[in-house]
Amino acid sequence: MQFNEKAFMEALKLKNPNENEFIQAVEELVLSLSDFLNTNPIYLEHKVLERLVEPERTIIFRVPWMRDNSEIEVNRGFRVQFSSLIGPYKGGLRFHQSVNLSILKFLGFEQIFKNSLTGLPIGGGKGGSDFDPKGKSDAEIMRFCQSFMSELFRYIGAETDVPAGDIGVGAREIGYLFGQYKKLQNNFSGVLTGKGLDWGGSDIRTEATGYGIIYFLLEMLKVRGDSLADKKVLISGSGNVAQYTAEKAINLGAKVLTMSDSLGTIYKAEGIKIEDLELIKNLKNKIRADLSQLDGQNSFQYLAGKKPWSIQADIALPCATQNEIILDDAKDLKNGGVKMIAEGANMPSELGAVKFFVDNGIIFAPAKAVNAGGVAVSALEMSQNSMGLRFSREQVDEKLKTIMVSIHNKIIEYGKTDQGIDYIKGANIAGFKRVADSMIAQGLV
Ligand code: NDP
Repeated sequence: MQFNEKAFMEALKLKNPNENEFIQAVEELVLSLSDFLNTNPIYLEHKVLERLVEPERTIIFRVPWMRDNSEIEVNRGFRVQFSSLIGPYKGGLRFHQSVNLSILKFLGFEQIFKNSLTGLPIGGGKGGSDFDPKGKSDAEIMRFCQSFMSELFRYIGAETDVPAGDIGVGAREIGYLFGQYKKLQNNFSGVLTGKGLDWGGSDIRTEATGYGIIYFLLEMLKVRGDSLADKKVLISGSGNVAQYTAEKAINLGAKVLTMSDSLGTIYKAEGIKIEDLELIKNLKNKIRADLSQLDGQNSFQYLAGKKPWSIQADIALPCATQNEIILDDAKDLKNGGVKMIAEGANMPSELGAVKFFVDNGIIFAPAKAVNAGGVAVSALEMSQNSMGLRFSREQVDEKLKTIMVSIHNKIIEYGKTDQGIDYIKGANIAGFKRVADSMIAQGLV
């Protein structure tokens, strides 16, 4: 029995027309899995891949809500419950105008393998809405979250499905979503993660994705006898993931040259300082304005409409959104001297860009490994909730470090080659194997 990659992808495309992001995410997995499947035909006999690409359940619902001026708005809500093979569905909620089924299926599919890599008991899911939080008042955000949860509450629960944040869903939104869930269920449970520290949240959850990215990067450097000190680093994005990636990198002595948002990039030649980062956090988390406002302040240069990728540096950490690095950006990164890329956002590099990195000897680590720290600490939040206790900040940070090192070790186990470490292959095989073995063990359900 041989795996026919081409026929598999053709069938997937026919069945899921117009779901480009989802197809891209599956292709990225399948491209590095063929040899493994051919040497382990049990996974082919059990049609594991065919079963995995079909979500266990997809819920799509209407979200009506009212503007402050009494105008009625209607958005679409989604929850893709992709896989409960190794634990309750787990994955964030995204509120962004671009959200559609394809984007949530790509994110949910990736989440299955990312969660598997953490070694923790968490399945894969993702949800959200095409709601655009920008320019909305606090009261409008609250009414939207309440309407969204008034439907979603039927399908989630501490042992069924535990959503968290993602783009457009931070501490404020999790608060409103949790409040509404509790009101409807009359039950205080760990149904969402990313909760406030006073009401069931875990220390380090806010920082976890960003800190985890840097802990993983440190391993990538360490196995090459290198360190982060004085490395020039490009970061994109200025949201949750980018902020804490930058914070940890700066604290460990790296020179973070850039951050960005959907309208442009801020650049500081001598490196962003912790005081500068506080300005950025305040602007993005409280004032909720774009980075152009920082032009000229604290030696920041604002590059309107530009991505960070053409600036000379050693390391690039894309932390904004999917497909933010296209082939031309990949070429810019190489020309600018970048030797190492670790994906902080989910699927930030197009397949053509990934191929370019690999062909040009640029060390490349994919999102499902690099950014798994966020969901890992979410799983620790779930454990703390179910045990009714709280770990200290130091305990959580230590566990996060251990998990990121263990993911890197698993990748070496499955991805070591004569040329070095194939991070894509290592992450995909290690993530897949645990889920696939669980699927076979649990029978045809
Ligand atoms: P936030 O909403 O906090 O920040 C998103 C950032 O990305 C903002 O700077 C935003 O700019 C920018 N951005 C969004 N869309 C685009 C776009 N189309 N082009 C350029 N920039 C854009 O989200 P997070 O930081 O939480 O998430 C960032 C990425 O990390 C996503 O891919 C997410 O899936 C992934 N991730 C998040 C985790 C988490 O724990 N939060 C865990 C693992 C992965 P602007 O302010 O202008 O909108």
